[in-house]
Amino acid sequence: MSALIEAASVLLARSSGAEEVYFVGRAPNLRFMGGMVAFPGGKVHGDDARLSRPDAGLSIRMVCAIRELFEETGVLLARREDGPPVEPRAGFDGWRRSLLDESRSFADILAEGGLHLDPIDLRPAGHLITPQFAPMRFDTAFFVAHLPPLQEPSVWPGELTHGFWGTAASALHQWRQGLLLPTPPTVSILQAIEGRPVRELPERLAPLLARLDRGEMPPIWFSPGVLMVPLDCRGLPPTTHTNTLIVGTGPAYLIDPGPVDPVEQEKLFAVLADRRIDAIVLSHHHPDHVGAATVCARRLGVPILAHRLTADLLAGHVVVDRLIGDGEIFDLGQAPHGRGKWAMLAVFTPGHAPGHLAFYIPDYQLLLVGDMISTLSSMIISPEDGDVAAYVRSLELLERYPARLLMPAHGGPTTRTAAILREAITHRALREEQILESLGRQPCSLDELAAEMYRGFPPATVKLGRMQIHAGLIKLERERRAIALGGDRWQRVGG
Ligand SMILES: [Zn+2]
Repeated sequence: MSALIEAASVLLARSSGAEEVYFVGRAPNLRFMGGMVAFPGGKVHGDDARLSRPDAGLSIRMVCAIRELFEETGVLLARREDGPPVEPRAGFDGWRRSLLDESRSFADILAEGGLHLDPIDLRPAGHLITPQFAPMRFDTAFFVAHLPPLQEPSVWPGELTHGFWGTAASALHQWRQGLLLPTPPTVSILQAIEGRPVRELPERLAPLLARLDRGEMPPIWFSPGVLMVPLDCRGLPPTTHTNTLIVGTGPAYLIDPGPVDPVEQEKLFAVLADRRIDAIVLSHHHPDHVGAATVCARRLGVPILAHRLTADLLAGHVVVDRLIGDGEIFDLGQAPHGRGKWAMLAVFTPGHAPGHLAFYIPDYQLLLVGDMISTLSSMIISPEDGDVAAYVRSLELLERYPARLLMPAHGGPTTRTAAILREAITHRALREEQILESLGRQPCSLDELAAEMYRGFPPATVKLGRMQIHAGLIKLERERRAIALGGDRWQRVGG
């Protein structure tokens, strides 16, 4: 996994009442938490160190927090040389624009205005680190600040789409209603200050930070009632972690407990300690999805559920107690939105694996796709147990479910639900065209095709690519569009 990126984020509270904070909507196309709601903030820039004064208590993260707040909202936490907070002036927009287009540095802007930064304007509330589900991981320092007199935040569309004021209670209510998609750290912070003045965040967040310091898994809430637990399961590269899910408010289901490693299993047991689980549900038979299934089933005294084809493939390895059919509905108990019960629908989606199931939760338009999609790379369809044609049909089937959020077993969830399914379909079509084009020129071996189509890629990628091409050739052979000649050579038919 990549190194941590240093970042800072600000809970900007309105001076009046001090219970409302300012939220920003992240543009859907952003790679990290796109389409979700968060607090203003961003990563540390090289220039931030220039303005920091560690001896005076002004850290690099504080400079970053103040600069990001200004870039994203136009609110400037700076003081005049004689002490009082800066008053808004005509030049603010020009400064903000030149900072955004990087034509001027924050230091230059402050110097021109005769301004300085004062640590008194920010209250540190601690750090949160992105758990291991994402390739981009941030170590984010959170701060509380009060809106300076006469200033008002405004978002310029770009990386952000909009901004709004709200209390923690109202934001959490909207989240439970399925109307707002805050990022998981935003949810944790809102839960900490719900019903309290924002300035109390440092004290209110401290118990959670202490638990994380002791090595506990952070609570990762993307969608209400669906807890995500990323665990190290070492699948095919670049996959290291599988997102185990705990779904439901009672009954509740443990989906894809993957780890074989006892240390990782202990992490899962710790999360399960005070939770109700009624059954273990397997999306498919691959080892990084079932590694802890038997041990969890014994420990919790609950059955293991999977599709019949998954049960067949796991025979002699994992005992599946009950079969899940296509369209089966799982009762999830009383919904977090408070309007009665909620449920989860099993959707038979073969292709990546013969017995693969995805799950759909209509109340939150949430699609749990298992290994149908990975947000880390394109999905592996192996020639042994995969089927490219079935995979594409299953992707097309999933396109019919209106989704606001798509949660894969590998990588972070995404709000680009329709786009990512379409991209996966297009990607397969493109690869197929490439194979046909190469075979059209002359009969080729698998190795020749892999070398051509994955030229310049590292050997591990070429090896996986070779598997993908093989699966693609099997599909073409079944469709009588290619035939296998002797000696591992393939030839195009017709066209
Ligand atoms: Zn798999």
